[in-house]
Amino acid sequence: MIASILPTYSRAPMTFVKGEGSWLIEADGRRFLDFGAGIAVNALGHANPALVAALTEQAGALWHTSNLYHIPQQQALADKLVEHTFADTVFFTNSGTEACELAVKMARKYFYDKEQPERVEIITFSGSFHGRSAAGIAAAGTEKMTKGFGPLLPGFVHVEFGDSEALSAAITDKTCAIMIEPIQGEGGIRPVPDADLKALRALCDEHGILLIFDEVQCGVGRTGKLFAHEWVGVTPDVMMVAKGIGGGFPLGAVLATENAASGMTAGTHGSTYGGNPLGCAVGCAVMDVVTDPDFLADVNRKAGLLRQKLEGLVAAHPNVFEAVRGQGLMLGLKCKIAPIDFVNAGYAAEIVTVPAADNVVRLLPPLTITDEEISEAVTRMDRAATTLGTA
Ligand SMILES: *Cc1c(COP(=O)(O)O)cnc(C)c1O
Repeated sequence: MIASILPTYSRAPMTFVKGEGSWLIEADGRRFLDFGAGIAVNALGHANPALVAALTEQAGALWHTSNLYHIPQQQALADKLVEHTFADTVFFTNSGTEACELAVKMARKYFYDKEQPERVEIITFSGSFHGRSAAGIAAAGTEKMTKGFGPLLPGFVHVEFGDSEALSAAITDKTCAIMIEPIQGEGGIRPVPDADLKALRALCDEHGILLIFDEVQCGVGRTGKLFAHEWVGVTPDVMMVAKGIGGGFPLGAVLATENAASGMTAGTHGSTYGGNPLGCAVGCAVMDVVTDPDFLADVNRKAGLLRQKLEGLVAAHPNVFEAVRGQGLMLGLKCKIAPIDFVNAGYAAEIVTVPAADNVVRLLPPLTITDEEISEAVTRMDRAATTLGTA
């Protein structure tokens, strides 16, 4: 008989019942250090007092009204995002994949309104992940995600990650946009080299097409800048945001320039829940923290500390690990063993990490992690690597 929960997930044998900062407490009382943060979602840790206050205060006032009316919390969050980014305008969603849907619609509508309705193709990259909606799986295009779900949404052209010649060749008079994660998350913490991101911007300008950054995983302070692309100094025309922006409350957004958003007039898009008072109240509280330069400076300092310790870990276990990569507190341990074996050994040592593609284990701690917790985490990872018996 089928399980009462549709069996699409294979879950680890833990049930967490409480969270405190960087810690997850299992039903049996064990305390796990959380280096997954709900896949880069709990950016400010569990039960963060400022977020709890924002949520409970809003919960006592008003939960939902729909977008038929003005929502002050949504306005406030949009203003904060516009103030701190390249964007002129924001649409709120409940998830990353909904942000992908709108990014695709926005890019196509832009050219439709410019009397180039044939420009519908979006170029994406191998190893990318843009969510599980019909557009999201077509964008990533892997057999693993798309098999059996056809016909797929047409209009995606897949290029090998890092192949700039193939990218140039893929741009035609049907191309409307290039969509890329500045640092691939699911793909295995693969950063796009700075020079390549700059070249992408130049290429899009040259061809008059839109550049879409998917910062669903790498955004919201994760890399030590508010958004990862700020390290390189290039800006997109459209950006997808989710995960960290809600700190654990389901919230996503599409940020865009006025030009890129020009096709999205009244009635062209909508969402019942997107931008609801609860999510936006929490989002405002998250933004107030992650836009503070001192907070970001501390993320960078702690990232340096963690990275240094991880280099030591890799050196101590040359049969388990190959290298550390990534930026800020979005780090990957490239493994010589199956990453899931290390993740499982981590569970036994009471530390949570997340496997990714390309033989990588992801380390995505809350940005509020302390120095002591970083030391403790590396101690636990060292224990986990040792128990694998290949060191
Ligand atoms: C998680 C993720 C998504 C999808 O977000 P959901 O909220 O799961 O729909 C899209 N893009 C990237 C880069 C992600 O990491």
